[in-house]
Amino acid sequence: MPLQVQLPSTNGRASERLFVSYLAVIAMIVTAMIFHKVLDHAGFFSESFEKLSYPLELTLDLSLLGVICAAFPHILRELRRRTTSATEAHQARVHIELLFKMTDMLQSALGHADANSVLRSTATSLMPGFGGALYIFNNSGDRLELSTSWDWPERAMPRETISPQDCWAIKRGKPHLNLIEQNALCCDHQQSELVTMEIPMMARGEIYGLLLIQRDGGEAAAELQETAVLATALADAMSLSLSNLALRERLRTQALRDALTGLYNRRYMEDALERYSDQASRTRSPLSIVMIDLDHFKKLNDEHGHAMGDVILAEAATAILGTIRPCDIACRYGGEELVVLLPDCSLEEATAKAELLRNRIERLSDRHGIPVSASLGVSTISETSKAKDGMADADRALYRAKQEGRNRVVPAERSIREVASSKAA
Ligand code: GH3
Ligand code: MG
Ligand code: MG
Repeated sequence: MPLQVQLPSTNGRASERLFVSYLAVIAMIVTAMIFHKVLDHAGFFSESFEKLSYPLELTLDLSLLGVICAAFPHILRELRRRTTSATEAHQARVHIELLFKMTDMLQSALGHADANSVLRSTATSLMPGFGGALYIFNNSGDRLELSTSWDWPERAMPRETISPQDCWAIKRGKPHLNLIEQNALCCDHQQSELVTMEIPMMARGEIYGLLLIQRDGGEAAAELQETAVLATALADAMSLSLSNLALRERLRTQALRDALTGLYNRRYMEDALERYSDQASRTRSPLSIVMIDLDHFKKLNDEHGHAMGDVILAEAATAILGTIRPCDIACRYGGEELVVLLPDCSLEEATAKAELLRNRIERLSDRHGIPVSASLGVSTISETSKAKDGMADADRALYRAKQEGRNRVVPAERSIREVASSKAA
């Protein structure tokens, strides 16, 4: 049932006018009949008008019968129309209440999982018998990923991902109906057995996702068309929530990450270092720290411009991210200094990893035709040393790397000693 404020149609208004006219004529005849009875009772027709009384009564009775017969089908139709509009108005009220409740619940959603539960529950109450799926853009915005789905026939479950180029609703920014008829304009991702309606989810001028509503059966296309307004209202309510979640995620990321390099910021790294060093001492596993400083960066800025310096910094960060494991943490410690935390990684392994990082950074020279290199200090936190010692050791090792001629990796002396003594023991 479409959710819309029904303005009385021209037909509806004419029918209402006719209905009122019939009622007025009936009321007039009944009044005349009563008037006749009163006159009769008062003896008005006693002598001189006696002959008039009966024909007059008969005329009034026949007129009433005639008007009632003529009006009956129309009155029935009008009553039916009024009952239908009352039911529609009631359903629209129920729909509006459901959508308000959904918007209210979505405001308390802490993440996509919460928002999905609210959507599923509202959609199944609002459009029983219709299946649905919600797709959300991935971080890079090149793919729509299935976030949740409900009531799909097992023979044609929704796809895990959709490419935006394959979807007419996304390309046009408008709802699109995928029919199963031949020659129908269908999205490439469409499963041929199902009729689906796709609604792009837009908020604040941006598309955040796609709502897919599907229906099975011979009347699917008409039923989907009939429910289009309601499905669009559902998509609108949900897109606002998606945009809020995206905004919240962006703010959270901004608080944790450095804008130029995309690496974690120093505050986040310091918290992570505490966490990782506690964990390392509990599990008796080594935690290594690699401190990286780009060589002669001031000179690079002076000779090639600050913008080029920014590009080199960002690319060095990308090279680092492409070399480390997901559990490792890379951060911008400040300026052109970067730090990598390598949990469960020995001094030997960390030194080899640092050499790989040095090599990747040096390779930026070929790409830009200017000398780019970095010096790296490596330390490993043992059972006796603390996180603070590890950072100071890595910093001292880095200083030595600079002194020994730059573009090299130097392991911290204390870490070397500790490894040697643990091997001897
Ligand atoms: P060294 O080999 O001894 O490390 O020499 P250096 O020139 O790299 O060291 P120094 O500490 O003298 O200079 C660091 C330079 O890094 C100075 C500063 O302008 C530059 N720098 C720091 N942050 C940024 C940044 O975000 N973008 C750019 N382009 N340059 C930066
Ligand atoms: Mg420096
Ligand atoms: Mg430097």
